[in-house]
Amino acid sequence: MFMPRAGLEALQTYSVADTDWAIRLDANERPTDLPPAVKARIIERLGLLPFNRYPEISAQSLKAVIAAEFGLQAANVLIGNGSSEILEALCFAYGGAGRSIVYPSPSFSMYGIYAKLADSQPVPVALQADYTLDADKMLTAAEQAAAGVILLCNPNNPTGTVMPPEQIEYIAANTRSLVVVDEAYHEFYGRTAVSLLGKYPHVAVARTFSKAYGLAAARVGYLLASEAVAGTIGKVLLPYNINALTLITAETVFGMRREFAGSLAETSRERERLTAALGAVAGIHVYPSQTNFLLVKSEQAPELVARFRRRGIGVRDFSAAPGLAGCIRIGVGTPAENDAVLEVAAG
Ligand SMILES: *Cc1c(COP(=O)(O)O)cnc(C)c1O
Repeated sequence: MFMPRAGLEALQTYSVADTDWAIRLDANERPTDLPPAVKARIIERLGLLPFNRYPEISAQSLKAVIAAEFGLQAANVLIGNGSSEILEALCFAYGGAGRSIVYPSPSFSMYGIYAKLADSQPVPVALQADYTLDADKMLTAAEQAAAGVILLCNPNNPTGTVMPPEQIEYIAANTRSLVVVDEAYHEFYGRTAVSLLGKYPHVAVARTFSKAYGLAAARVGYLLASEAVAGTIGKVLLPYNINALTLITAETVFGMRREFAGSLAETSRERERLTAALGAVAGIHVYPSQTNFLLVKSEQAPELVARFRRRGIGVRDFSAAPGLAGCIRIGVGTPAENDAVLEVAAG
């Protein structure tokens, strides 16, 4: 019979509004295109690519340069079509039917979708009122649900809050589930769980090129893990999952990542400027953020979103999402874009 697999009818298609805002602050992207020297080098290298050939089957050369940066081996690295692909793959590999996947809430909304795609039970664990994590609550939930995977997002999207490294180690030391730390915003924060990899073979760290390194268009991310975990997750990734254009692009960006230091520092400065100025507006509460976005709370959230949109500014309205009543996520843009945000917020 012509019928989809059981469970799919309940699954919502992930979709975000694809509006062409004059000022796009709704997807946590880098606000400007790549540094010109980096883009020129990519285009030069793409010009030399034989387009008729398949890419390297398992992205070995990109794995090798990433591994070297962390003092790891290529066998400790997986490359994905966005870190999204890897997060989904690890739910397939360590979740599956009859298992569960535990993650904080509110956090990245895709975690629940990946869990369902893998036929696993999604187990969201509520963060505290200030959006910090109660590690014991997380561990108890994982224990009770016999979780295959604990997903942690650090810094957390969309709240911008962080979990100190000691807290992540505490979770790792007290569970036998695979603990995955999604560090999509690492470059704006600086601290990392990578040093836990040597001590805990059941810890893995996911990173992306989509945010700080401005490669959202290319779709590329990676996972650092023990050889056993990387090998297992690698079984559910398709061969040739990363195309040759993306491989060249990511390798060039990774090799030239020092070129991004100035713009990363500017984003952090602008984030602090926005935090202070938005926080001074009556009726707006700003959560402290270690990322390239801010979560703000207002009793007039729908009106505020409407005012941004009238001005051509796209922001992400979370005011109807669980645990995020009245909240809006605003990306840190260029200084001029942030000025526009401040003008609108000040009314
Ligand atoms: C943006 C984001 C990702 C996905 O990044 P891609 O590499 O573009 O797939 C993963 N996790 C979090 C928390 C994100 O915000």
